[in-house]
Amino acid sequence: MPRALITGITGQDGSYLAEQLLARGYAVDGLVRPPRPAPDADAGAPVRPDHLAAVRGHAGLTLHTAALDGTDDLVALLERVRPDEVYHLAAESRVAVSALDPAGTATVNVRLTRDLLAAVGRVVPEARVLFASSAAILAPSPHPLGEDAPRGPLTVYGSSKLTAHEAAAAARADGLFVAVAILFNHESPRRSDDFVTRKITRAVAEIAAGRREGLELGNLHAVRDWGYAPEYVDAMRRMLEVATPLDVVLATGVGHTVADFCSAAFAHAGLDWRDHVRVDDAHRRSREADALVGDPALAERALGWRASTRALDVARLMVDDDLLRLGAPTG
Ligand code: NAP
Repeated sequence: MPRALITGITGQDGSYLAEQLLARGYAVDGLVRPPRPAPDADAGAPVRPDHLAAVRGHAGLTLHTAALDGTDDLVALLERVRPDEVYHLAAESRVAVSALDPAGTATVNVRLTRDLLAAVGRVVPEARVLFASSAAILAPSPHPLGEDAPRGPLTVYGSSKLTAHEAAAAARADGLFVAVAILFNHESPRRSDDFVTRKITRAVAEIAAGRREGLELGNLHAVRDWGYAPEYVDAMRRMLEVATPLDVVLATGVGHTVADFCSAAFAHAGLDWRDHVRVDDAHRRSREADALVGDPALAERALGWRASTRALDVARLMVDDDLLRLGAPTG
């Protein structure tokens, strides 16, 4: 039975990955950080649902609660677990929070990545590692963006991911099997409220339930390549099955505007988005790419993977989930 260690197991991707690996007969070890006081950046944030609810108590799942502080802690963890595969997903993934807390972001996104790679090299150098990089490392340039697209992050989050990506490349050059997924946006009912897709679908449900009237958004013209998270974690697993560790763009290859996403989400609840959405410059990010659309050609060629759930269907799935939570009828 293969054994996988997942950092960031409590997040959107980590929880889907845990479910999929357990269903395949893996033993799964997950790294969970200890409960902590909410940082200022999180003040007032709603309590997140338990994404691991479906697998808690599964005989194949072991959770390790630890504040990992340095390579020695990670060495001790890896000596206990001795994983065949390591999926390094833990990160401060929220662009806005990364801007408010660059030091905390660097600690988890960069230092933890370096420490983990060093510990893998010491304890389980034969293990296969997947690092979750991001389209946010790329510079605005002609689309679609492939693995060799120019680097040039616009945000603290993107810079931290680029530094970690380079650490992953260096570890690969030193002989470790480190595959790097260059992830374009992927969403699901487990997406946190910090992301525009979730803001939209939650507002749709609340408006449909008569709990609010409108939604303010910053930039309706931004184009994003939104896929469906469970499919992206399947691609991550495939990346550890191929003979050579690769950098692979995971994307649908299709871009939609925020307005398109709004239109589909509101229509799914029988609403016209133009009656409810207002543009408010206070919600506009000063530095963000106008368009981010990926080129999934290598993923298809090397992994036999292709995103099948399209952005506007993801919007509808998320609206259904938000309506369900509010006890409203679904579309
Ligand atoms: P997510 O839902 O925000 O989950 C992040 C995970 O990292 C959570 O388990 C979180 O733990 C953990 N984490 C955060 N700070 C930590 C810290 N200081 N120490 C230890 N653990 C920490 O993110 P996701 O959407 O699943 O994304 C997974 C990975 O893919 C991330 O590396 C993200 O940057 C990358 N990525 C995602 C997308 C996307 O569209 N989803 C796109 C590009 C790249 P808590 O539960 O305790 O907060």
